[in-house]
Amino acid sequence: MSENYSTQFPSVRGQVSDAEWAARVNLAACYRLVDRYGMSDLIYNHITARIPGSDDHLLINLYGLLYKEITASNLVRIDVEGNILAKPDTDYGINKSGYVIHGAIHKARPDVGCIIHTHTRAGMAISSIGGGLLPITQTSMRFAGHIGYHDYEGPAIDLGERERLVRDLGPHDAMILRNHGLLTCGATIQQAFNTMYQLELACRAQVDALAAGGDITLPPAEVLERTAHLYQPGTRRPYGVLEWHAMLRLLAAEPGGYPPYDQ
Ligand SMILES: [Zn+2]
Repeated sequence: MSENYSTQFPSVRGQVSDAEWAARVNLAACYRLVDRYGMSDLIYNHITARIPGSDDHLLINLYGLLYKEITASNLVRIDVEGNILAKPDTDYGINKSGYVIHGAIHKARPDVGCIIHTHTRAGMAISSIGGGLLPITQTSMRFAGHIGYHDYEGPAIDLGERERLVRDLGPHDAMILRNHGLLTCGATIQQAFNTMYQLELACRAQVDALAAGGDITLPPAEVLERTAHLYQPGTRRPYGVLEWHAMLRLLAAEPGGYPPYDQ
């Protein structure tokens, strides 16, 4: 029996609603950007997005593709339990156990349109430090009092841990999975990406500061609190709107070698 692991996928543009196609293009762009900014981990991890106007249907990557190979047409449509509703004609499937963290949050937080989970070097480093993410830079201050922590319980996630994941995320849009990695979510794909970019950068800066040694200076508590508030999405402006167009221009100008994300 021959196996079909081809990475050539026909366009599904004519077969899906305009809203789903737009979600597919933006989600594929998000995978490319997470990779572009050094946040991918071989073929692992997921970014999931709700399809607007659907009955809790989501889009997820085919398990086995590089983030660089993900396109609007090769994303898989699933229900919130992780059952496949539509996928390309391929022997690639989805990583159902990897979806469990996403599924728990998508179910519990209808305000969440997109979830990004990463295993970056800086994210894993900060996830292993007792004090977690410190508000030592303007970039990390946005997370002070606005980030959850979830203790590591092993790779297999049972029903009980799903409840604890949701509890530990609370109302926030970012969570550090201790001894594991990072997670962000947002009302939109664009906003979830923006938050992950900021969280990753905050972790990298903290790793650098700790490695440099010496005393770390913190601003006064009232400055931290006010800054965290001012940088919440929507306090002054939504995130990921102005930035996203710039990000798409960046992707469009990148040299080829992989299929364009918006096909
Ligand atoms: Zn993980």
